Amino acid sequence: MADIPVSHPRRASLLGRQRLVDAAKLGLLADSALIAHGRGEAFDYLLDERTCDSARTAIREVAARLQVAQHPVISVNGNTIVLAGKSLIRIAAILNCPLEVNIYYRTPERIEKLLALLKNLRQEISEELAPNQFSGDWKSAVESVNILGAISDGRILGLEGPRSLCSADGIESADVVLVPLEDGDRCEALIALGKQVLVIDLNPLSRTARQATVTIVDEVSRASSILFSYIVKEKSNPTDWDNDAVLKDALEVMSQSVNRI
Ligand code: ATP
Ligand code: MG
Repeated sequence: MADIPVSHPRRASLLGRQRLVDAAKLGLLADSALIAHGRGEAFDYLLDERTCDSARTAIREVAARLQVAQHPVISVNGNTIVLAGKSLIRIAAILNCPLEVNIYYRTPERIEKLLALLKNLRQEISEELAPNQFSGDWKSAVESVNILGAISDGRILGLEGPRSLCSADGIESADVVLVPLEDGDRCEALIALGKQVLVIDLNPLSRTARQATVTIVDEVSRASSILFSYIVKEKSNPTDWDNDAVLKDALEVMSQSVNRI
């Protein structure tokens, strides 16, 4: 993959795909992870692999809601960590909020591997230069990001079996949860518990996209890096959010791709 020219129009997409293939070989992902990614890629193709204006508005709204939350948590699965782990750790460092590894098809081996990967990324980021707009001690802000998920001492009421497991200090006590790639059942259960659920999902028609409090219809690595840039730059307030409007706008943008022929 190193031989994809920098000018290749679909370079970012091909590199992302390769990162997932490599992660799958290392046992970091469930078997269905590549299928889920493929579904995402199809929608991203229709978006011309670009962040549309309404997705930017949704990212701004997510930034604002995370900034004013009492107890925000970022819940991550394998695909999210592989594609956007670094940006999400930077965001957690600025918000001073925990990251929780929470996966749909839970095995102790995969949880352990994902926790180890996140800890390595956290170490790498702690050694980076502080972002321009950040005024505190970057190294210690990053090092103090709490990585949860090793202990499942919390429950998501309304779900059965392993899918109900979570961390008591993470999802269970959160008022606002950013779950980039969430499943429809869990999204519904979290909403029923009165939490704000902020998601990133390329499929504007998925149950997750339709049930979430705020849906960013965009690719997870692009959206996370823009989210970081908003969170580090400015503090804004949540608005009266009309989530159906962004879903409709994303579908509109996708349907306009017919004009590219
Ligand atoms: P739901 O459970 O919400 O009804 P689903 O079962 O169709 O949806 P899942 O298999 O639970 O979907 O999760 C995959 C979802 O993640 C898809 O909607 C897909 O569009 C989205 N997705 C996959 N890869 C990415 C990515 N890189 N960025 C953003 N979204 C993605
Ligand atoms: Mg699902």
